[in-house]
Amino acid sequence: MIIHLINCFTCNARFPSHWRTGTLCLVIESDDGLILVDTGPGLGDYTKIPPIIRTFQVATKVPLLSEETALRQVAQLGYKPEDVRHIVLTHMHFDHCGGIPDFPNATVHVHEREYHAFTGMPRRWTDLAYVRQHTAHNPHFLLHSERGDEWFDFPAIPLPLGIEMWMIPLFGHSRGHCGIAVHTNSGWLFHVADAAPLGFDEEIPPWLTRLVLGPHTPRLSQFRTNHPEIRMTTGHMLLDFFSNRTAADLFSVAGRE
Ligand SMILES: [Zn+2]
Repeated sequence: MIIHLINCFTCNARFPSHWRTGTLCLVIESDDGLILVDTGPGLGDYTKIPPIIRTFQVATKVPLLSEETALRQVAQLGYKPEDVRHIVLTHMHFDHCGGIPDFPNATVHVHEREYHAFTGMPRRWTDLAYVRQHTAHNPHFLLHSERGDEWFDFPAIPLPLGIEMWMIPLFGHSRGHCGIAVHTNSGWLFHVADAAPLGFDEEIPPWLTRLVLGPHTPRLSQFRTNHPEIRMTTGHMLLDFFSNRTAADLFSVAGRE
């Protein structure tokens, strides 16, 4: 059982031009079927491009390659869409959840605050990244909230899956944004998604990081320093991350204890 780290949405900055990023999604092979962490945009976004993606096409360089959809990449791994049994969302912005309609058999796990932000009235500018069409097919949602558990010193929610996974509330980038921790045979993988720009923190002024990604960067940077044994990833890794991937990046999944 392994975890594939895939890029589901290339989005390159016009300036600075070396910020060439992809949207990191995880494909986890488990006894419970496939588990996706985020989906990137879905195939429907390529045939009927939502206004928010058109805006990104103007502001950034977005090649919009349908081969990047989770649907196509899951097929390349030899699986059918119905093999995806669970989708765990960090948040519901279009570039993280647009692929939900491509996997109609999956249960969609998300923090309840994020779900209510998605379904409610827009209240802040980052809410403009929600595309209601992505849930028009009425997927089966399982909403999660804190019950007093912790992962390391973070409040955390254990997910009811066949492998050990935790949803770590890191609200700020969106109202219910969460990181996801996965227990693998070679330690923890902590996907902080859009809560921090780990790796190029110094290049972004702290006020801008806080405005766009929320307040967690200092704590997550400190956590990374304190825990070099934990592999940490973000929602928008540089393209080199995907092209330089080696077999060592294919984590094997630990069974539940
Ligand atoms: Zn986002």
